[in-house]
Amino acid sequence: MSTLDFALAVREDFPILKQKVHGKPLIYLDSAATSQKPQTVIDAISHFYMHECGTVHRGVYHLSTHATQKYHGVRERVAHFLGAKCPDEIIFTRGTTDGINLIASNFRGKKVILSEMEHHSNIVPWQLHGADISYIPINDHAELELKAFDELLTESPAIVSIAHIANSTGTINPIETIIERAHEKGALVLVDAAQSPAHLPLHVGDLNCDFLALSSHKAFGPTGLGVLYGKSHLLKQLSPIQGGGDMIDEVTLNHTTYGEAPLKFEAGTPPIAQVMGFGAAIEYIDSLGLENIRIHEEHLMAYATQQLLTIDGLQIIGRAKNKSSIISFVVEGIHHLDLASFLDLEGIAIRSGHHCAQPLLKRFDLTGTNRISFAPFNTFEEIDTLIEALKKAASILK
Ligand code: PMP
Repeated sequence: MSTLDFALAVREDFPILKQKVHGKPLIYLDSAATSQKPQTVIDAISHFYMHECGTVHRGVYHLSTHATQKYHGVRERVAHFLGAKCPDEIIFTRGTTDGINLIASNFRGKKVILSEMEHHSNIVPWQLHGADISYIPINDHAELELKAFDELLTESPAIVSIAHIANSTGTINPIETIIERAHEKGALVLVDAAQSPAHLPLHVGDLNCDFLALSSHKAFGPTGLGVLYGKSHLLKQLSPIQGGGDMIDEVTLNHTTYGEAPLKFEAGTPPIAQVMGFGAAIEYIDSLGLENIRIHEEHLMAYATQQLLTIDGLQIIGRAKNKSSIISFVVEGIHHLDLASFLDLEGIAIRSGHHCAQPLLKRFDLTGTNRISFAPFNTFEEIDTLIEALKKAASILK
């Protein structure tokens, strides 16, 4: 199958792509913000509400035991998808942000290494919990300065927390090297994998990371759900940040003992329908094949990069050698918000602004960029339409 046939087949799975926006066919180029949902995910959620709705861990009746079984079935599936040793290493959270907050709260006041390209979700939680933060600088291509990282490691940090893929520029960080070097110096590593699961294979066993956080909604799954992976012996040492039902062993009026991980970190009624949806999302990714996705998106990246550079005054921000399916750019003389609003009228959805990465933008002396990001359903024709629209915008807005 050619990559175009692949994309055309994938498009059929996404009902939202059939709609028009401002009278034009929708061209969705903002999958890095949130991915669209295939029919199978939508069906899994509505099937749960229509036929299976019951809460988990509570009842002895059929609906509840069935929901409990399926809920933990998805945990097993996620563990397999991520290459975890066992399902107990998989905690369901509200998203990447939630997972990072849990880890940051356990490293209160400790020495932490982040980087200048982190999403605010991997900066603010550490500041909130009073961490002593150092940042790995980045070069003009938006790549990490690994020599500076080595120097920071001599200061004996407790943990290093780094994005696998930077949401602002698409840089794929050399996470294996980072983990290896951090471990040599006795530091733990948390991988912010928010941008990864729908684009690149992740195997926590092979990576040997200590923690990894991701969001379901960026991987074809529903919003309101994420995953935090942690090595079993480390999860045992972490304290929960929320108390409530389900996470306890015993509660008295004066004292509570907690259950074991992962339930210790899943206080309250969990997002059960979302978990069912995420199970279907993983099944969907497996059915497409990450390798097929990668090949198609690499073609899209090469074509879009080449075409974008034909536009007068357009500069790509972040020319890392190793990039995922995200391109950030500015066009001289056109404000990013004006450009994005113009494209919206053409039915083209792109992101504009600081992408929750203000320190990175400051590094490039910018306050915002335009960002396009791909999914396997995007086509070369859509890129052509984007380029035409950009040329039109340049002739009107400049
Ligand atoms: N890290 C990165 C690299 C991201 O791209 C995002 C979302 N844009 C987050 C963290 C936060 O994810 P969420 O808002 O789903 O918690």
